[in-house]
Amino acid sequence: MKVRVDELPDSGRVVHFHETDTWFSSRIRSGEDAGEITLARPINVDLELVPEAEQIKLNGQLQGAVRLRCSRCLQDYVLKLDEPIDLLLHPLSADTPEEIDLRPEDLDTEFFDGVTIDVDLIVEEQIFLALPQQSLCQPDCQGLCSGCGADLNREACKCEKRETTSAFDVLRSVKLEE
Ligand SMILES: [Zn+2]
Ligand SMILES: [Zn+2]
Repeated sequence: MKVRVDELPDSGRVVHFHETDTWFSSRIRSGEDAGEITLARPINVDLELVPEAEQIKLNGQLQGAVRLRCSRCLQDYVLKLDEPIDLLLHPLSADTPEEIDLRPEDLDTEFFDGVTIDVDLIVEEQIFLALPQQSLCQPDCQGLCSGCGADLNREACKCEKRETTSAFDVLRSVKLEE
């Protein structure tokens, strides 16, 4: 969705829309893991665009869920997204000073071409920001055993068991020799 700034009323405009699978798979890539991230629930966006002098203030929320693959245990898991959108867009023009005095408020500042706001692009960026640096199904995911490949969240490691058994066998054989 794109919004033309000259069509924005002074009081602002509220938009509601959702992003579906097709949009998601064409926009969201996660580097080498491309394809390993899919939409589990459509992304719903509620957004208010309010002109403030030259700038446009964006305020809203995006909600949805994505399916990611855990980097430790390789299981898919669902990550819920419920992200506030709080942005101030500066028009980018020839006379934009190199350094802009950013307002001390807690707003993220971005730029737009001064004519059209690409709301899809903003949603895309906000989803990216919400994705974890390291994809983990749970903070203390035990991962896979590098020896036997067991998913240590669900089952015991089989190599450990083997060691225990052999130690026991050694003890027993020592006893038999007595
Ligand atoms: Zn995991
Ligand atoms: Zn193991």
